[in-house]
Amino acid sequence: MTRTIRSRRKVYGQLLAHACRQPHRECCGILAGQDGLITQAFLAKNVAADPVRNYEIAPKEIVRLMGELRKRRLRLLGIYHSHPNWLDTNEPSLKDIALAYHSEATCFIVTPRPYATAPIRAFSIRDGRAMELEIQVLR
Ligand SMILES: [Zn+2]
Repeated sequence: MTRTIRSRRKVYGQLLAHACRQPHRECCGILAGQDGLITQAFLAKNVAADPVRNYEIAPKEIVRLMGELRKRRLRLLGIYHSHPNWLDTNEPSLKDIALAYHSEATCFIVTPRPYATAPIRAFSIRDGRAMELEIQVLR
């Protein structure tokens, strides 16, 4: 059975736009909302040493973003990053699976490739296994 995660259309568009602004490297950020509905995207800076192949949000920025969520009474629901346009798929890499430390948050992977059938995919990663979730886009 496929589990579903819900997102506002606005957020879905923000993620795609973020990935398309820098199609040759990975972009990243966090997703927040209430009752399992993602209502806000918070864009973050990718501070990885090799942003073409990796992404990393600075610990200081994570602390700042979490404070922002508390202030707005939002919950952390997802973490997103993009795979650059030279990669075929937006599926979790072995590294993505190994690094899924926030296992409560859904892992969203965006591709800037123009004709992708599913430009944004969501995965629940637990115990070294990725399970794809269905994204329900709401107005
Ligand atoms: Zn990845």
